Amino acid sequence: MALKYVDEIELKGKKVIARFDFNVPLDKEDRSKITDTTRIDEALETIRYILDQGCSKLILMSHLGRPDGEVNKKYSLEPVATYLAEHLGQEVTLTESCLDRGIKTLLTLNTNNIILLENLRFHKEEEAGDTEFAKALSEYADIYVNDAFGTAHRKHASTYQINAYFKNRAVGGFLLKKEIQALEKVVEKPQKPFVAITGGAKVSDKIKIIERLLINVDSLIIGGAMAYPFLKAQGHSVGKSLCSDEDVKLAARLLKMSSAKKIVLPVDHVASTEFAGAPQNINSVDIPEDLMALDIGPKSLELFRDKLAGAKTVLWNGPMGCFEEKDYAAGTFGVAKLLSELNAFTLVGGGDSVSAVKKSGLAEKMSHVSTGGGASLEYLEQGTLPGIKALKFGVDL
Ligand code: AMP
Repeated sequence: MALKYVDEIELKGKKVIARFDFNVPLDKEDRSKITDTTRIDEALETIRYILDQGCSKLILMSHLGRPDGEVNKKYSLEPVATYLAEHLGQEVTLTESCLDRGIKTLLTLNTNNIILLENLRFHKEEEAGDTEFAKALSEYADIYVNDAFGTAHRKHASTYQINAYFKNRAVGGFLLKKEIQALEKVVEKPQKPFVAITGGAKVSDKIKIIERLLINVDSLIIGGAMAYPFLKAQGHSVGKSLCSDEDVKLAARLLKMSSAKKIVLPVDHVASTEFAGAPQNINSVDIPEDLMALDIGPKSLELFRDKLAGAKTVLWNGPMGCFEEKDYAAGTFGVAKLLSELNAFTLVGGGDSVSAVKKSGLAEKMSHVSTGGGASLEYLEQGTLPGIKALKFGVDL
C-alpha cells in the first residue's frame, strides 16, 4: 500500500483536519513575536491547496513548546493564528482549547472557515497517545492530513493514534512528501559516490546511524567532538577535548568493522585551553595535553574536499566544531561551502547542522534542508517513522 498525499483525495465540501508542526521559536521578552517562521511558511503550500480545493472547513492543529499537559498561555498558538491570518488573507479562529465544546457549533456555521485548535500539549493525553483524545479530535472532520514531519517520529495522539479513525481517509501533506522523497534518496539506493558527513557532540547518540551509513557510503567523514573518541581509540592524544570513555568504547567497536576503512577523521585542529578561549592552530592529529579541540583545522577541510570531489549524494548531520563561537566556526562553514559547490544531491538534516547551514547563508544552495531534526535522524536510522507508517497502514488500537 502506497502512502497517499493530499492531492490524491477529494476535498471539495469536506471538513479537513490537518496536523502541522507550528512549534516555532518565540521572542523571550515579547511572546507575540515569532523569531523564525520557517515551519509555518513551509506549511502554507498544503494549507492553500486544501482551501483552494473548496473544503468546507479546515481545522489546523499543532503543539508549541513543552507545556507538559497544562494550560499555559506562554505557549498559546495565538502568534501563529495571527501570522497565518496575515499570510492567508483570511480570518483564522483560535479555539480556547482543542476540546472546546463550542467547536462542534463552529463547524456548522458558514463563517469561520479556518479554525486553529489551541496547543494540543495543553492536554497530557496528546503526548500519552490517548485514544479517546485522538477520537475526540477525529470527530471534527471527514479527512485527516498529516504534514507535521518534525513530529512524525512521535507516537502522539494527533500524529499516530488518530489514524485509526480515518481509515482510507488519512493522507500526507506536501512538506511530508518533500521530506520523505529527500530522505529516500539517501536511505534507499543513493546515487554513488555517496559521502556522509557527521559531527556534533556525542557518538552514543548517533551510533546506529553511523553503523547503518557505513554499509552504504563510499566515505564517512567524522568531525566535531564526535571525532575525538575515534582518534583516541586509534591511540592519538586528544588532550582536554570532549571525549567520554563510553564513546571511546563505541568508537573502538566501530573501528573494528571491515567498513571502518571508509571513515575519514580530522588531521588538524583549532584548540584552546578552555571553551570559547583564544584559538590556537594545532598542525597535527595529536592534541596537546593542556588543550581542547573546538574545531577542525584547514588541512582537515582540504582532506574533506578531496573526499567529497565527484560525490553524487551527500548527507550532512552535525557541526564540525563549536560553530556558535566565531573563532570555531570556520570548519562548519567551510563544509557548508564545500557542499554548496558540489554537483550532487545534498541533504542537511539534524537540528544543529540546519541552524549552522542557515547561519552560513548557504541554505539555499543545498538540495534539501530538513525541517525536522530528531525526525530526520530517526528516519535515517529506521528507514521510516511511526507517523508515516500509521498514515500508510493505519493503526490498530
Ligand atoms: P549535536 O547536538 O550532537 O549535533 O551537537 C551539536 C553541538 O556540538 C553544537 O552545539 C556544537 O557546539 C558542539 N560541538 C561540536 N564540536 C565540538 C567540539 N569540538 N567541542 C565541543 N563541542 C562541540
